Amino acid sequence: MAARKQAASVEFRNVTKRYGNVTAVDSVSFTIEPGRLVTLLGPSGCGKTTTLRMIAGLEMASEGQILIGGRDVTNLSAADRDVSMVFQSYALFPHMSVLENVAYGPSVQGVPKKDAYAMAMEKLELIGLKGLEKRAPSELSGGQQQRVAVARALVLEPQVLLFDEPLSNLDAKLRRRVREDIRELQQSLNLTVAYVTHDQEEALAVSDHIIVMSNARIAQTGTPRELYEEPANLFVADFIGDANIIAGDLVSVAGAMGQVRIGSLGLELPHRGVGQGAVKLAVRPDAILLDETVRTGALAGSVRKASYLGTQVEYDVESPIGSLFVVQHGRKEPIAPGTPVSISFAPQRGVAIIPDA
Ligand code: ATP
Repeated sequence: MAARKQAASVEFRNVTKRYGNVTAVDSVSFTIEPGRLVTLLGPSGCGKTTTLRMIAGLEMASEGQILIGGRDVTNLSAADRDVSMVFQSYALFPHMSVLENVAYGPSVQGVPKKDAYAMAMEKLELIGLKGLEKRAPSELSGGQQQRVAVARALVLEPQVLLFDEPLSNLDAKLRRRVREDIRELQQSLNLTVAYVTHDQEEALAVSDHIIVMSNARIAQTGTPRELYEEPANLFVADFIGDANIIAGDLVSVAGAMGQVRIGSLGLELPHRGVGQGAVKLAVRPDAILLDETVRTGALAGSVRKASYLGTQVEYDVESPIGSLFVVQHGRKEPIAPGTPVSISFAPQRGVAIIPDA
């Protein structure tokens, strides 16, 4: 068996895709480093599937350049790109067995049948489907069909593997397991993966980096943690996690840090290049602390609603800076609605000035 191919990078340089007068992708640039899993995340219609299909060569760019492993593939057809895609629908051939489905790719490339079957068996074993190779796709569960689709994409050992909403046909419980399997496989085989989803939790869970798209453009690129803790704009603050968007005042700056006033509270935060004056802050629900004993220096508020969810309690809290969504982790007795509370912030848990608000 030949040595595994090196994982390759993927680079977009000012790539635009137009369909008539619709601009589906608008001058987008990014790099996926070799061996990384990068998610294209965004709401329906933002251009993520079109971006993925342009990596595959299933759509051609209207403008710009696409490089895979440093090679310009902008004008190459899908067959010449050394990229495989796992489709949302799996796209298995219903009249072929599992083994034949996985061996199909090598067979059409001229690999002798016996060798193609051996390659297919190796991938089926890798993915935990040994013993099911004679079945038809219709005789498999949704999760097993998904694995066949992954084995079929892996069998040619592509330089880049693409996933288009791979979990959308699975039930909620299975989704979690399959996403962990995909991540484990990607890491153990050191694959370069581009992965499309509209589910922010899924993106946070599986990705090395996330490219958040909005209206055909990139809203922000970063690690899951960067996007969650330091959203660059209101769109990302709102789309990833549940941020409270709070008005504040940047009263002074010294070096990278600034003094921010939120109501009667003072906080020291990175100013992120924002000038003094009115600012907007993204405050994560668990960065807000509630205390039943009234403390000086804290904001005075009152609990309006409490929901006990086992591992956490969620609150709606009325306060002088507006209504707040607060999450307290751990098994605590919920604070009863109507109770007065002191509100303070834990900046290290996610309080950030939004630069582009
Ligand atoms: P979804 O999550 O709904 O699949 P998406 O973010 O993947 O959305 P795309 O499918 O990339 O979005 O579509 C981006 C835009 O381009 C949309 O406005 C869509 O209607 C348009 N579009 C996509 N494919 C075509 C096409 N073949 N012809 C015309 N317009 C298209």
